[in-house]
Amino acid sequence: MRQNIRNFCIISHIDAGKSTLADRLLELTGTIEKRKMREQVLDMMDLEREKGITIKLQPVRMEFREQFSEFILNLIDTPGHVDFSYEVSRSLAAVEGAVLLVDATQGIQAQTLANLHLAQEQNLIIIPVVNKIDLEQARADETVQEISQLLKINQEEILKISAKKGTNVEKVLQAIVKRIPPPAGNLKSPLRALIFDSHYDTYKGIIAYVRIVDGQVKKGDKIIMLASGASAEAIEVGVFKPALTKIDLLKAGEIGYIATGLKDVEQCRVGDTIGTVPQRTVSEGQSLKALPGYKEPKLMVFASFYPVEPDDYDLLKDSLAKLKLNDASLDYEPESAQGLGRGFRCGFLGMLHLEIVSERLKREYGLSLVVTSPSVSYRLTGKVISSPSDLPESGKVSGIEEPWLTLEIITPSQYLGLVMKLLTKTRAQYQDTQYLTPERVLIKYQAPLNEIIVDFYDRLKNTTSGYASMSYQILGYQPADLVRMDVLVAGEKVEAFSRIIHRKKAEPEARILVEQLKKLIPRHQFAVPLQAVVNNRVIARQTISALRKNVIAGLYGGDYTRKRKLLEKQKKGKKRMKEFGQVSIPQEVFLKVLRK
Ligand code: GDP
Ligand code: MG
Repeated sequence: MRQNIRNFCIISHIDAGKSTLADRLLELTGTIEKRKMREQVLDMMDLEREKGITIKLQPVRMEFREQFSEFILNLIDTPGHVDFSYEVSRSLAAVEGAVLLVDATQGIQAQTLANLHLAQEQNLIIIPVVNKIDLEQARADETVQEISQLLKINQEEILKISAKKGTNVEKVLQAIVKRIPPPAGNLKSPLRALIFDSHYDTYKGIIAYVRIVDGQVKKGDKIIMLASGASAEAIEVGVFKPALTKIDLLKAGEIGYIATGLKDVEQCRVGDTIGTVPQRTVSEGQSLKALPGYKEPKLMVFASFYPVEPDDYDLLKDSLAKLKLNDASLDYEPESAQGLGRGFRCGFLGMLHLEIVSERLKREYGLSLVVTSPSVSYRLTGKVISSPSDLPESGKVSGIEEPWLTLEIITPSQYLGLVMKLLTKTRAQYQDTQYLTPERVLIKYQAPLNEIIVDFYDRLKNTTSGYASMSYQILGYQPADLVRMDVLVAGEKVEAFSRIIHRKKAEPEARILVEQLKKLIPRHQFAVPLQAVVNNRVIARQTISALRKNVIAGLYGGDYTRKRKLLEKQKKGKKRMKEFGQVSIPQEVFLKVLRK
């Protein structure tokens, strides 16, 4: 039976046509009824359909008959964007083969290489496929040549298809059956199932997406999470068609789901192994060896989320917990800030990840959020810090480091000069140039993440009419010249405005910030000085002038003493307000300054 199973995923650079190829495979195998078919059917989230990108991995089970044999094909569709490599690496651990899709109009792109390396690390069988050969600007033969050089394989092994038109797609199915080996694994051993994803269901609790490595599991079995130690009952088992569909038994080699009834994320984490507890001895179950999990994702970008309505704090807390079930890389901890109330400091894999998470919170949980401007994670004497308050206010700070990455950019050679010029504007350092073909070149740099995260990718795309592609890998931390900048409003430090900043960029940024605040904070009865301070030194200042209410307007005629009294009173009042630092900063000022 397992001889007839093939588990595979499709990997590529973003937009190469993975989801479109998946559509054709679903049609050819009759997995989805014709009338229910729509484009990129596996991109199920609204957000994915709108943005036209895959964010979540998505498993689906297909049946394929070839001559006299029936095959079960388990496909996992994966995202291509570099922020979601973590999703890709988890999918790869659950399969034996990968279809490597390359866009014939683009050739090999940076993320094709990155994903290929991930697949090779897992020793997967690679089936190279060149897509979009229907397009006039397709350079199918050159692309085949590039791939055959890169993978050191015969050109005959590379398929040429149009996922959109369906051309040669059945050849892909045949290659999957022929070249990818059936799953190994022992049906008779105790259950071991690798959790590669999960989501939360109100009725069935945490639904674990699993690859059954050994043994089998059916409804009613007692199960145990080997790493967390939590035990539960399999209240339902099934497969993805792609909708969750109950079956009686999941066996070694298969991909499916187990509904656990568990409510707490910590009890059923992605990367954990599910085992069964044999009725006789509990210890036997516990002595089972957990499967190797995944590398912990590296969180590189931090930002805080605050509910616009303070009453929504609990909803936000709950929503983050549920989202984390479906997004194992998300991390967060509670935080509170003056003016913003209670919220969460969150860690992300990159900017797109941050954007997707905040969008999902808004759409799926109806939250209205304040998202503070993102920063990278720094390290102080070896410990990761994410907030300015982790740095001393003054005095020399030594031992601060910032994350660096290796940057791989593939560009048509005609844009090489422009791309390199763009890189000189950052603190990036040149490493290497490699011509893939005379027209296409791969360049490598090392750069501080801080210079790259915010908008480098957009600028790269603009510079090269969209033709360059990039991928990056975190290299590690290196010493950095960083300082903490605080902002005083009427002499009071307002923590929400503090930031960690490069010493050279402190002054210009401080000037922009206080000017912005001057425009945004409403005038008061007294003058309000605004100061940006680094190391006890004011590096930028502005003053919001006093609003002078005309207290004597109602008095006319000669009674000077009454006028004097009122003016005196006003003066006192102003003094008192100032003493108590009563500058009221409306919430929208925080929103405008902190929002990205
Ligand atoms: P993914 O990001 O790899 O999942 O790519 P998608 O499947 O979402 O496809 C990206 C875009 O390329 C979509 O607009 C598809 O319609 C288009 N596309 C995919 N395959 C083909 C193809 O074979 N020919 C043409 N002309 N367009 C294609
Ligand atoms: Mg896709």
